[in-house]
Amino acid sequence: MTQLTKELMDAVTEAYAGSLFVRSLLENQFAIENADKLKLEHIESITDRIMVMETEKYQVLLYIQSRGSASVSQLVSDLKLTEFTVMMHILALQNEGWLELRDQDKMIYGIKSIITKNKEKLELDLISPWNLRSVYDPIQIIVDSHLCCLCGACKAVCPVEAITIAGDKPIIDEEKCIHCGLCNYHCPRTLMPLNILKTHVSGPQESFFQDLDVQPIGPYRILKSAQTANDEIKAVCQDGGMVTTFLQYLLEKSEIHGAVVAKRQPNSWDTNAVIVSNIDELLEASGTKYAVSPNLVAFNEASQFGFRKLAFVGTPCQVQAMRKYQVYSNIFEDVWGSIEYVIGIFCMETFSYENVVKISEEVCNTPITNVSKMDINKGKFFVYDLEKNAVDVPIKEVTSLARHACHYCVDLTNELADISCGSIGSGPGWSTVVVRSEQGEMLYNNALKEKYFKVKDIPADKPFGTPLIEKLAKGKRKRNFKGLKKILDESPPYYYNSLNQILKVEEQ
Ligand SMILES: Cc1cc2nc3c(=O)[nH]c(=O)nc-3n(C[C@H](O)[C@H](O)[C@H](O)COP(=O)(O)OP(=O)(O)OC[C@H]3O[C@@H](n4cnc5c(N)ncnc54)[C@H](O)[C@@H]3O)c2cc1C
Ligand code: SF4
Ligand code: SF4
Ligand code: SF4
Repeated sequence: MTQLTKELMDAVTEAYAGSLFVRSLLENQFAIENADKLKLEHIESITDRIMVMETEKYQVLLYIQSRGSASVSQLVSDLKLTEFTVMMHILALQNEGWLELRDQDKMIYGIKSIITKNKEKLELDLISPWNLRSVYDPIQIIVDSHLCCLCGACKAVCPVEAITIAGDKPIIDEEKCIHCGLCNYHCPRTLMPLNILKTHVSGPQESFFQDLDVQPIGPYRILKSAQTANDEIKAVCQDGGMVTTFLQYLLEKSEIHGAVVAKRQPNSWDTNAVIVSNIDELLEASGTKYAVSPNLVAFNEASQFGFRKLAFVGTPCQVQAMRKYQVYSNIFEDVWGSIEYVIGIFCMETFSYENVVKISEEVCNTPITNVSKMDINKGKFFVYDLEKNAVDVPIKEVTSLARHACHYCVDLTNELADISCGSIGSGPGWSTVVVRSEQGEMLYNNALKEKYFKVKDIPADKPFGTPLIEKLAKGKRKRNFKGLKKILDESPPYYYNSLNQILKVEEQ
């Protein structure tokens, strides 16, 4: 038997015995079936997919353990994995607390020295990780630390429907929870390796390591101002109507069967995620709602409808969750695998619905039922009544009402979308459109060729246009990364898992 084959077999064994996901799903099949969300064949296919991912990850871990340290190029050539796959697993293992970066230039990783030092104290057997499995606890810690951006991913993946969303918080029903850790694993506020995900969307990046000063608006191929050519869309959209126009094109050309969007609830500005499948429904969902919407929850609905090809619209945090799922899991391939296009919207902050009502009624003296549009523009929050009269307030007066999690968010321009749309950088009635992926470029060019929209250049001169977008994006990154670092230094729930917690206690 060659060494490689033995290492692969060891990895399979470790994945079966060591993976909490696999064990929990296998041990709780009865509870999962009873929850009536997944059928037996789904549970089997989910377990199989997790096994493939976990086996690769354990291959990487065992290889490094047996040698003490290893470079990425060694792992690539000996394990016959791509550099992307190796880096993806290394970052997950680093997040779980197993690995540390020894040499960034040579990309060498080793077993974390604290593990080696405290081997006996921690009762770890470094030949095999059997004694200490990476444990992902439910997402309660993320919620308690006010880091939850309410993307809805945890609720969408929970196999026993133990998570409900109440107000702007996910709540875990401890009676139902089987502690599989899938919610934590998929949460965009645990591991979030942005450059790996950017590589997945936009092709190879200069480095797998994130440099906050580089590419303030992320990688892109096209940056333009654009405006819909459709009068119905113009009448209801937020800016240039480009989000709705891209979806209209995709639906009309049968490139998708439906799209996940955020829709207002009747007579209210409260928002929920829905799947629309025709132009009328699409028009109803256009326009910006500043109340947070857990858009990923719509995937539960998608499985019932059996859509084959979908587009997804979301804020940067929702798109991060979407991309993390695509790269790190893909366990619900039947449904989530149907996402063909991701259209992102720019986002500086969102609010709980309670605070949206407060801004409208208490700050802008407009009953929420009389509001026809809300907008953030040129440093002000505007509330328009049914006669289109506007009341505005400087944004800094309502920033304290924004969701706490938004103060730890480093993406303004939706850097992981196929195409991102925002208002900054373009004049009234126009959208700033950032095309990032090959898929996005095809959609943009085809829809433009068929005159679904018109375009013009974004001014490159200061203080408007591109420099303004870059300045605001950079400002958000810097400001919020500082806040994030502070919270990490005080207690590290952002990269929380049980191994890290144990090691932290040992370190003191
Ligand atoms: C909370 C929030 C904050 C924003 N902040 C900024 C900002 O600081 N700077 C900036 O340039 N642009 C910001 N935008 C984007 C901007 O308001 C427009 O959505 C964007 O320019 C697209 O305009 P459009 O005319 O193409 O969109 P439309 O064609 O009108 O379509 C808007 C789409 O956004 C979706 N949507 C609406 N509300 C939400 C929500 N809460 N969550 C998820 N999806 C939603 C709708 O489903 C619809 O598909 C923000 C958007 C949101 C939702
Ligand atoms: S950020 Fe998303 S996945 Fe994480 S706890 Fe909040 S809703 Fe759940
Ligand atoms: S709440 Fe999280 S840990 Fe509990 S069963 Fe659901 S996904 Fe698993
Ligand atoms: S600011 Fe960030 S965390 Fe807050 S809603 Fe927007 S993308 Fe999500």
